[in-house]
Amino acid sequence: MQDFDSYINATKQTINKIDLMKKEQIKYRNTQSDKFSKYNKIVYVVLAILLVVFTFLFNYLFFKNNDPVVYITNTGECYHADGCRYLYSSIPIALSEAKTRYRACSICNPNVTASNNYWAAFFISLAVCIVLLILIKYILNKYEDKQIDDFNLKTDNEILNLIKLIKIPTQEEAKALCNVPDNIVLDKDYNPIGDDFTVYYSSNSSKVYHCSKNCSSAYYKSNIIDVLDKRSCEKCSKNNDVDEWIKKLSILKKQINNIKNILNN
Ligand SMILES: [Zn+2]
Ligand SMILES: [Zn+2]
Repeated sequence: MQDFDSYINATKQTINKIDLMKKEQIKYRNTQSDKFSKYNKIVYVVLAILLVVFTFLFNYLFFKNNDPVVYITNTGECYHADGCRYLYSSIPIALSEAKTRYRACSICNPNVTASNNYWAAFFISLAVCIVLLILIKYILNKYEDKQIDDFNLKTDNEILNLIKLIKIPTQEEAKALCNVPDNIVLDKDYNPIGDDFTVYYSSNSSKVYHCSKNCSSAYYKSNIIDVLDKRSCEKCSKNNDVDEWIKKLSILKKQINNIKNILNN
């Protein structure tokens, strides 16, 4: 392991990088779905208008150029739709030609039949349009999800690689990093074990820690490396100078907690 300062700096940089990448993921997810919903809306409106216009146009052109077959009889003056009860003998003839020489039968109304066909075709095409629009929405949403997933996966991999670079020191390594005297033993939380390092305080907000219990109603027990943001009590403290290794150990412990938080998220 490196020396104390380079260990703290290197891990701090890595933690910041990971933190930044996690924020990027959230930011990307938010901006990306915003962008896409707006984009979706535009794509939709344009597609919907295009589809409806094409449906109208297609049907109009199709029925305009389409000359349906109607039927005449040998003797009558009318033309009929297929199946009319006045159709005794049926001779097929194009509607355009029939119109020039015959009139439409008022019973079967062959012109209305043609118009009905037009509307039937129109509504069928409209239904196809709606199905197409639903399909397009589904595909766009899938695409949007995939973009976000890809970004997350890529960033997750980068984060994993960064995490691999972080080493949590063993107790022995922590002692070496902080120049802890050989005779001192660290517990699993990197606290030095022993009465010399046990301190008390009256509340979290109090600015003072004490070496003897109940001095100024200080009954919360702690380890000295966790209370270095407070100053020692002038009445009960043995000496006011905190050893350099205790300060280093305190910083190291906070750093290790930061690392553990990152690893757990
Ligand atoms: Zn008829
Ligand atoms: Zn005191």
